[in-house]
Amino acid sequence: MGERDPFGLTPSAWEAFAVEAGLPRYRGRQLFDAIHRRGVTDYAAMKELPAALRERLAAEMPLRLPEVVRRDASADGSVKFGLRLVDGALIEAVFMPGDETRSAANEFEDARAASHSRSEIRSSQSGSGATVPRFTICLSSQTGCAVDCAFCVTGRLGGGRNLTAGEILAQLRAVLVETRHGLDGMRVVFMGMGEPFLNPEGVIPALEILFELVSPRRVTVSTSGITPAVATFAALPQRPNLAVSLNAADPATRERLMPITKTYPLDGLLAAMRAWPLEPRRRILVEYVLIAGVNDREEDARRLVRLLRGLEVKVNVIPLNEDPTYLPEWKRPAEDVIDRFVARLAEAHVTVTVRRSKGPDASAACGQLKGRTVDPRKRTQTGR
Ligand code: SF4
Repeated sequence: MGERDPFGLTPSAWEAFAVEAGLPRYRGRQLFDAIHRRGVTDYAAMKELPAALRERLAAEMPLRLPEVVRRDASADGSVKFGLRLVDGALIEAVFMPGDETRSAANEFEDARAASHSRSEIRSSQSGSGATVPRFTICLSSQTGCAVDCAFCVTGRLGGGRNLTAGEILAQLRAVLVETRHGLDGMRVVFMGMGEPFLNPEGVIPALEILFELVSPRRVTVSTSGITPAVATFAALPQRPNLAVSLNAADPATRERLMPITKTYPLDGLLAAMRAWPLEPRRRILVEYVLIAGVNDREEDARRLVRLLRGLEVKVNVIPLNEDPTYLPEWKRPAEDVIDRFVARLAEAHVTVTVRRSKGPDASAACGQLKGRTVDPRKRTQTGR
């Protein structure tokens, strides 16, 4: 049975495993369903399997969840989990309760966008109008991040290793176990620690497994703009929602905020977004972290409108989550500045929402996941 991580095996890999082990093929599907659909974390409880197989699996392919080393609950109901992986690496995942009166696509919208004219801001509830989801889980794909976006705490703490598909799914299961949730009403976003598009070896099989459990429309992968990987993910037979962390509409500001722009320039990223295949009623989510005095002027909004012209996008404006320890130089814009920025986009008929960051008091909001607690000022002394 060897080195295989049971959380990371796709249904076809489980079936191949069963055949290899001299078992009927359907045993593989039974194992996949028990682990991922029923959330069984102990082979002993899989009574549909022969006892000898359960014992052998427990000895040779143990089901290991990451250890929960920290829980930070926020007043809004979100919980950030610190998780220790088998090799000791620390990651963070966030549980965010949904508002059952809102639709899936609308979960991050706040009252500010809703207060603008509905004729100007096309509602993102254009789907079925169903009152799901009930919760979202934000996953990490790496144990750090080498992309080093200037506004991101994870980036400030430096690079890490890729998570395997098994570690990604075990991370998800750990959060479901901790919060006593099943799969119903679940959305998954890869917006935690790391750049998912720098880890296709882990993220693509993880998506294949996730798509067995939830619709691809309920899974979103966010990238800083690793242009060649956008094409790789675009070619998948089933695609998640694409989110692009854009944050600036001109190359100079984007390079300042996201040095990755030097490697993958803005025009190439826009071309990759245009080439992303969109099924009906799907859009690309453009994330725009709004930072006082950096990218929050009305001219920035107008430039953004011009840049996105012709693309099916929804812009998610995310006023910076300030972090005086890790990001002392960046500030959140004043409320009237945020309002003006959003209004300029809405006037140009761009669908725009303002993300109500879930869990800022638990440092669980976008760009605040760290996994480690090191003082970034020490890195400054070594030249970074
Ligand atoms: S915003 Fe995303 S890509 Fe950028 S440093 Fe943070 S985790 Fe990495």
